[in-house]
Amino acid sequence: MKTLRLILGDQLNSKHSWYKDNPENTVYCLFEMRQETDYVTHHIQKVIGFFAAMRDFGQHLKDKGFTVQYLKLDDNKNTQSLTDNLKLLIEEHNITKFEYQLPDEYRLDEQLSAFCNSVDIETEAFSTEHFYTERNDLKQFFQGKKQYLMENFYRDMRKKHDILMVAGQPEGGKWNYDKSNRNKWKAEHPIPPYKYFKNDIEAIVTLIKKEDIKTLGTLDTKTFSYPINRQQALEQLKYFCEVLLIHFGDYQDAMHTDQVYLFHSRLSFAMNLKLISPKNIVDTVLNYWRKHGEDINISQVEGFIRQILGWREYMRGMYWALMPEYKTLNYLENNNNLPDFYWTGNTKMNCLKQSITNSLDNGYAHHIQRLMVTGNFALLAQIDPDQVDAWYLGIYVDAVEWVQLPNTRGMSQFADGGKIATKPYVSSGSYIHKMGNYCDSCHYNKKEKLGDKACPFNSLYWNFLDDKRKQLGDNFRMKMMYSLLDKMEAKQLSSLKERAQQIIENPDNF
Ligand code: FAD
Ligand code: SF4
Repeated sequence: MKTLRLILGDQLNSKHSWYKDNPENTVYCLFEMRQETDYVTHHIQKVIGFFAAMRDFGQHLKDKGFTVQYLKLDDNKNTQSLTDNLKLLIEEHNITKFEYQLPDEYRLDEQLSAFCNSVDIETEAFSTEHFYTERNDLKQFFQGKKQYLMENFYRDMRKKHDILMVAGQPEGGKWNYDKSNRNKWKAEHPIPPYKYFKNDIEAIVTLIKKEDIKTLGTLDTKTFSYPINRQQALEQLKYFCEVLLIHFGDYQDAMHTDQVYLFHSRLSFAMNLKLISPKNIVDTVLNYWRKHGEDINISQVEGFIRQILGWREYMRGMYWALMPEYKTLNYLENNNNLPDFYWTGNTKMNCLKQSITNSLDNGYAHHIQRLMVTGNFALLAQIDPDQVDAWYLGIYVDAVEWVQLPNTRGMSQFADGGKIATKPYVSSGSYIHKMGNYCDSCHYNKKEKLGDKACPFNSLYWNFLDDKRKQLGDNFRMKMMYSLLDKMEAKQLSSLKERAQQIIENPDNF
């Protein structure tokens, strides 16, 4: 028997049981393909990062003595299609069995299932051995329940994996320290420099240009700064524990004009490519805290673990429970076009300018920039969720559909009618001002609702509530907002709606 084992670009898990020993007659394959570079317009750093990590992983396997077929994008043999490349290798190597790890993306899962049904050799699918949960665990957990609350799932995960638990109770007495994680950063604690790697990517940059791959965003050095292999991911994690964890929770939601990463870990790219597992990260953070964390409050640690053990696993479970219909949902019936400034950062609204410029320059924005700035505006301006998805899926180096889609369409755009978020994440300018300093140097005035200088978020906010009363009016968590809206004078509301309409019709003028 001769076996072909497929490794997808986000399956670079060197700790997988596939690599425990080196089975005879087994060929491992990795492909750089137009199929993957072109299904959406990606950030240039995202394409570079994936190829750099794949090349590194292929080399690592070769160094360990594995037989590897690595097809670069411009390899003559490369058909640029996953299934055609597989057929080619099956024939070339007289393969009698095909093995693959279950893809995390629905589109690839469908493609590989169809492929397996079409070939007349034996096939077998394996777990990626990356997540805490299996694909369908969350679906089973919520079976028969009306709401899919992340908090219920998270508490169950804490108990099941005995994480931050003492005698069956949450350590420190609370499950959730969210309320202490909402500080504005006022330079009271200096932000350490971010840890970056100088991965040489010159050959990949040349290749992308030569092959004329359409990308977005910028690359101003010939290096890629996020981890591209396990060793670098471990170094990034060590830096996080030693330097950033101490204030992670405090400033988790903060935004600042001079700071891109604040106390965030920058681990999402490494984790999503499976260079490092969530368990590895959670265990390391906990061990560090127990050994050296006398100055680190539990709220920082719990805040971080909740993102990984809670949100990340929950989003994946929701994706698999609700696809493929999930990708088509548009509960709020939003159909406007995404403004051009999402692709350029060219707007007078400083919060958007800063968040989008960060994204274009670094393929990165932290959670609150994604949710409460770019996501908030897109929702208030009632943008078509398909266009919002395409932007989020392209622009971030960590964007893979299983995690991008539920975050964007669900949590941020409420297009699922409340399966993930219990109410839409919308706000006027006051929230953005509360969490950062963007408003201080903005063309607009965060306090004004009407007039040329009025913050666009203010009129858009009330207009949104009024427009979506049919879908949101009965939402218990929106009750207070609607009672405020009901108290507003008709003339005031009509002026606000008029200004909102001007913004919606011509967002690029603002
Ligand atoms: P940190 O702030 O240091 O957090 C640590 C880790 O927690 C992250 O690396 C990530 O793995 C996990 N995490 C935190 N929040 C979430 C979340 N909501 N869902 C899943 N995991 C989470 N994350 C992605 O990995 N890929 C995406 O495509 C993506 N798209 C998003 C789109 C929107 C609209 C929003 C609101 C959030 C999105 N997120 C996405 C979640 C989050 O913004 C990023 O994981 C985070 O900003 C990555 O930076 P970091 O590694 O420095 O995170
Ligand atoms: Fe954004 Fe409004 Fe603040 Fe300007 S004033 S930064 S547009 S929230």
